[in-house]
Amino acid sequence: MKGYLQVYTGDGKGKTTAAMGTALRALMAGWRVYIGQFLKNGTSGEILALQQLGKTLTVEPYGHGGELTGREKEAYCQAARDGFQKAKEALLCGKYDLVILDECNVALALGYLDVAEVLDLLRMRPEGVECILTGRGAIPEVVEMADLVTEMKEIKHYFAQGVMARKGIEE
Ligand code: ATP
Ligand code: MG
Repeated sequence: MKGYLQVYTGDGKGKTTAAMGTALRALMAGWRVYIGQFLKNGTSGEILALQQLGKTLTVEPYGHGGELTGREKEAYCQAARDGFQKAKEALLCGKYDLVILDECNVALALGYLDVAEVLDLLRMRPEGVECILTGRGAIPEVVEMADLVTEMKEIKHYFAQGVMARKGIEE
């Protein structure tokens, strides 16, 4: 079965949770799932839930922490590049049917990853491997290559009212 390249991008809420919902479906259909999370360190609720299913799931956070502050850029770049090597292994090793690279679009847009290297990897992944890239600001090259692109459009977000990420809803 052909594996497609999906991209969930845009400024509105729902990109990561859409990918996790797809992981839930895939796992229950017997797919082997890998989730790599750029720029993230913690383990949010949905990951803990997915891990409790007892299915074939690997989760690796690639983050250095605190990326949004913009400080220590070199360390963040290095963490993302190390993550990319893990993502590469996951995409090429044949052990996974679905590979989710959460916030990969952001790592690309911030210049943490080499665009040509990422595009090459996506192109050379085995035929049957489905891949989902999430994160705001998907670069045009990724949009061009993808088979499916969904843009979460922000109509309103309480972030504008100063509401930070809440456990149970955003984490
Ligand atoms: P979810 O994980 O709930 O599916 P998402 O993956 O679509 O959401 P991200 O783009 O990854 O959301 O946003 C991560 C966090 O950034 C949000 O939980 C929110 O707290 C914060 N955020 C939301 N809007 C903005 C904004 N305009 N600028 C900066 N940060 C924002
Ligand atoms: Mg997200």
